[in-house]
Amino acid sequence: MLKSSLAGLLVAITALFTSAAATPVSSEKPVHVTLRYLGTAGWEITDGTLVILVDPYLSRIYGPQPPGRPPFARAPGDTRPLYGWNDIAVPDAAVTDSHISKADFVLVTHTHFDHVLDVPHIALKTRATVIGIESTENVMRAYSVPEEQLITVHGGEDYEFGTFSLKVIPSLHSPLDHKHYYSSSKTPEGLKAPLTLEQMHPEGGTLAYLIRFHGHQILAFGGMNYIEREIEGLEPDVVLVGAAGSRKEIYDYSGRLMRALHFPGLVIPTHWDNFTAPFAASQQTQIDTLQSFVQEIHAASPKTRVIVPQYFEPIPLETASK
Ligand SMILES: [Zn+2]
Ligand SMILES: [Zn+2]
Repeated sequence: MLKSSLAGLLVAITALFTSAAATPVSSEKPVHVTLRYLGTAGWEITDGTLVILVDPYLSRIYGPQPPGRPPFARAPGDTRPLYGWNDIAVPDAAVTDSHISKADFVLVTHTHFDHVLDVPHIALKTRATVIGIESTENVMRAYSVPEEQLITVHGGEDYEFGTFSLKVIPSLHSPLDHKHYYSSSKTPEGLKAPLTLEQMHPEGGTLAYLIRFHGHQILAFGGMNYIEREIEGLEPDVVLVGAAGSRKEIYDYSGRLMRALHFPGLVIPTHWDNFTAPFAASQQTQIDTLQSFVQEIHAASPKTRVIVPQYFEPIPLETASK
């Protein structure tokens, strides 16, 4: 009995060494990249060490709607103040801090308060580098975010950061107000905090970001539009696609997008929720509406998986083969 156990052990040890010799052993553990939806157009993308945020907006103030839209109905039980454009909104630092403890980079797609309101607080707290257009960086300067934390981009840059690289992609804002929305204004230099919502809302231009991270290519949009020629030929495996109703103002929104990106493996809708309601409020109406987006993607790209994200639920990406 003992003899056969020993013999078995020997076989096992031999097999272990044989397979170790046959397969080069890498000292690097496979790295898992995880996404978390922060609501609105907000995302956390991390490998467990480096934390990249996109448009983190967790305050979800009961604020003014974009042009052409009636105010959202107040969520039941929501007694928070209603802010107008000329008001100074108080960010909800408690809720932001409860979900964001670390950030190395914050990528901002454009300077609207539902993308930028919480970024000064997050940048000052975490010392993250804030990447965005000039308008965004001028909001940071107003809140005394140190200059060395600011990287101003135009669109077109392709920057190397070591653990990841970042292609900054010129893009377009959602076609709000039945295509009548247009903004050529930007937040000027020299403002001093606190800023009104109006001062935090000169769009300044819109960007998308392609994040290359541990073999993944994650393409993040901050709204419901894109410039087809700027994304043509990119091959992201994950795309965060603006999915609110204004996408229907765009010709063949999902079809052109899927074809330009060569039918990505995973699409996750973003900027589809009612961002004036607190996290605890029901988003069932928005989730129901989202089904038409899911159908569009499936029709345009049948092999693409679509995940409807839950707030703060980790979405682990499969280890990239590339
Ligand atoms: Zn916007
Ligand atoms: Zn927005």
